[in-house]
Amino acid sequence: MINNDSYESAWKTFRRRRRIFWLTLLCGPLLIFCVFAPLASLLKSEYLFSVPVGLLLTSIVVTYLPYACWRCPRCGHPYFLTFYTSTLLFGKKCIHCGLPKWAQNDPDA
Ligand SMILES: [Zn+2]
Repeated sequence: MINNDSYESAWKTFRRRRRIFWLTLLCGPLLIFCVFAPLASLLKSEYLFSVPVGLLLTSIVVTYLPYACWRCPRCGHPYFLTFYTSTLLFGKKCIHCGLPKWAQNDPDA
């Protein structure tokens, strides 16, 4: 049995994972093109550009997976994913059990 604290805690985890992913996705390229690209050009070093780009791409994957695979607090399955489809992180309800996004308790209980 999942209580209301578990739902709140699960959504808190979801929000943290979502924040980390979007910060990585939005700030990473900004950092690369504002800092590393000019620095690589100034010092004529391709590694100062290619290594940060590689690290950024890895970081995006590493932060995406826990976000995309986050488990529904009611059914325990990945909220956005099934074996054959996905709601691409913008689903308004669990793809498995229909729990609405941000629900603080089980609406069917
Ligand atoms: Zn569910």
